[in-house]
Amino acid sequence: MPSNQTRVQAIQEITRRPLPPAKPPSTLESLWATDVFTLAKMKAQLPKEVFKSLKKTIESGEKLDPDVADVVASAMKEWATAKGALYYAHVFYPLTNATAEKHDGFISVQSDGSVISEFAGKVLVQGEPDGSSFPNGGIRATFEARGYTAWDVTSPAYIMETSNGSTLCIPTVFVSWTGEALDKKTPLLRASAAMNSAAKRVLTLLGHKEIAQVSSSCGAEQEYFLVDAAFAAARPDLLLAGRTLFGKPPAKAQQFDDHYFGAIPERVQIFMQEVEERLYKLGIPAKTRHNEVAPGQFEIAPFFEAANVATDHQQLTMTILKNTAKRHGLVCLLHEKPFAGVNGSGKHVNWSVGNATQGNLLDPGDTPHDNAQFLVFCGAVIRMVHKYGPLLRAVIATASNDHRLGANEAPPAIMSVYLGVQLEDVFKQIAQGSLTGSKSKGIMNLGVETLPAFSKDPGDRNRTSPFAFTGNRFEFRAVGANQSVAGPLVAMNTMLADSLNWIADKLDASIGSGMSTNAAILSILKVIMDEHGAVVFGGNGYSAEWHKMAVEERGLLNLPTCAEALPVLKEKHIEELFSKLGVLTPVELASRFEVYSEQYINSIAVEAKLVISMAKTMIYPAAMTYLSSLAETFSKLSALKIEASTEPASKIAALSKSLLLAVGKLSEALERHDFSSVEQHLTHAAKTIKPLMDDVRKYADALESEVADGEWPLPTYQEMLFMR
Ligand code: ADP
Ligand code: MG
Repeated sequence: MPSNQTRVQAIQEITRRPLPPAKPPSTLESLWATDVFTLAKMKAQLPKEVFKSLKKTIESGEKLDPDVADVVASAMKEWATAKGALYYAHVFYPLTNATAEKHDGFISVQSDGSVISEFAGKVLVQGEPDGSSFPNGGIRATFEARGYTAWDVTSPAYIMETSNGSTLCIPTVFVSWTGEALDKKTPLLRASAAMNSAAKRVLTLLGHKEIAQVSSSCGAEQEYFLVDAAFAAARPDLLLAGRTLFGKPPAKAQQFDDHYFGAIPERVQIFMQEVEERLYKLGIPAKTRHNEVAPGQFEIAPFFEAANVATDHQQLTMTILKNTAKRHGLVCLLHEKPFAGVNGSGKHVNWSVGNATQGNLLDPGDTPHDNAQFLVFCGAVIRMVHKYGPLLRAVIATASNDHRLGANEAPPAIMSVYLGVQLEDVFKQIAQGSLTGSKSKGIMNLGVETLPAFSKDPGDRNRTSPFAFTGNRFEFRAVGANQSVAGPLVAMNTMLADSLNWIADKLDASIGSGMSTNAAILSILKVIMDEHGAVVFGGNGYSAEWHKMAVEERGLLNLPTCAEALPVLKEKHIEELFSKLGVLTPVELASRFEVYSEQYINSIAVEAKLVISMAKTMIYPAAMTYLSSLAETFSKLSALKIEASTEPASKIAALSKSLLLAVGKLSEALERHDFSSVEQHLTHAAKTIKPLMDDVRKYADALESEVADGEWPLPTYQEMLFMR
């Protein structure tokens, strides 16, 4: 029996697989938010006073009145049970990037043995999952493992359907009994609050009287790969690590640039449509779908929403993508680099801040006054990316994202800001202290007291910048495809709060000493450019020149791996940033360093073990089987006195030997456990284990080019990327 039997079966399965049965399409109106307990539904079902009180809590973040909670819970239960829900779940977001849930039945057994369904306010508001199996980075000892979840009223409850049941899901925060945040939602709510008060300070100083709550918005573009489930099942690496650890590049990859925005394959489009339908029912505004650059790679993007809701929705989107793929005989890979040598997947986080009274604060606007305000917020962003760039790098540091950052395709690991030609020019003029006009047509005549009016068009897109201004928002392009967007949003909102507070202090002092507001703005922006202008870069972020210039001339940090990036979380000024703004206490921040480091170390260890086992039990045996069949052939030929080249056989023998040697070295390195610090362990994983894994791969991939295709046990890149 050939060793590639599973591969052959997979190909047969795929080529014979029919498309899913036809189903009539639904209208947007019939789908939209049907599975969400929306504000409109609450309004319709709750007594007026209760609704008012709840709305106030949602808008102001005040604590929910327990009496109100009972009424809301009862209405929520009515709605959910009418939709067939027998269970409810508190959904929370532990530090793993995943979504966690604890399910409980509405069932309550009465003294006479009968049952009723019950859902009290206190179980809506608070849950108590056993927290001991979630990472906490030393915050709690397991004997005091209790953590509790608390309803986040700002994110609506919804129903999750499976083919034979429904569950009412309640988005919650997850905190320890002593109040420390064990999740990603709590800091996001705190960071949003800090940003709100800092932004309000600045807006007040700019002369506004009526100022609504300022919040951040997020639109996250999600890239992903689809691979047929039959192939994925035959690849232990895809199964356990989410990426291929072996595989020679196919003859054709993305060099024809024919996939991006190409026609979507029918099977994929049917999958996408089901995803979108499910998202619509959950009130998630899916908006954009297209092929991505690599073969087998696609993108989905929603219409942007408030950061907290967008974050919950983003988690749901990842879940729905994965679950729906399974129903279509596909596997959805969210890994940042599933295939070496082809483009990886990111998640571009589009981020802006604004409110109901002043609108989008990162929108240039039409009048010089709006422009002045815009320049202040833009200046705040320039300062924050310069001052805390390494933190931005640290919050996207995962084992899988390391494959993108620093490689020549994704934004580099060096954090810089792209402003576009016109805006960069305005800031350069400010730096030179002589603001005379804007580069666009219709230049205005400007004195020191006046600011230019300019159009929204930021000019050319720069795809090589990690943090780019795109007309009315910034796009953080270095976030990993697999990551929760909470971490990046926490960092951005906290950093912005810090910058805005700094600006507010300066504005306050300058205006207090009699300076005009515009003159004060210009002088503050000049200081920002003098001290932080080094972070503004409009050139090619992938180029070697930039890497050199950024580090040597501009003093920016290049942190290529988690081993360099994660320790940033331990720096004193980062600890101060988070604690002074009330986002993370030093203990909470330290726990994050511990947890993320452990995750990195574990991911690399799992991959290394997989490399060893796949090399020994799949690749080496395939090489040997083929070698022995070659040897048999040679002896038969030589009996017939026919000469044949033994070169391929020698090559295979040599490569196999090198493969085993490399495996031996990797196994030895994995045995090391005597680390004196987490940092040392991180470095060992990044600088010793990973290169040794690459060595094994080098020989394995070379063998794939030599061994007969019929003997090769693993589905190939060609098959996985092109067959669906
Ligand atoms: P592109 O691929 O050109 O970057 P897409 O249309 O794929 O653009 O995605 C842009 C994303 O940015 C969408 O999710 C969109 O809703 C979001 N977005 C647009 N305006 C804003 C804004 N003001 N704040 C935050 N996100 C925004
Ligand atoms: Mg896009």
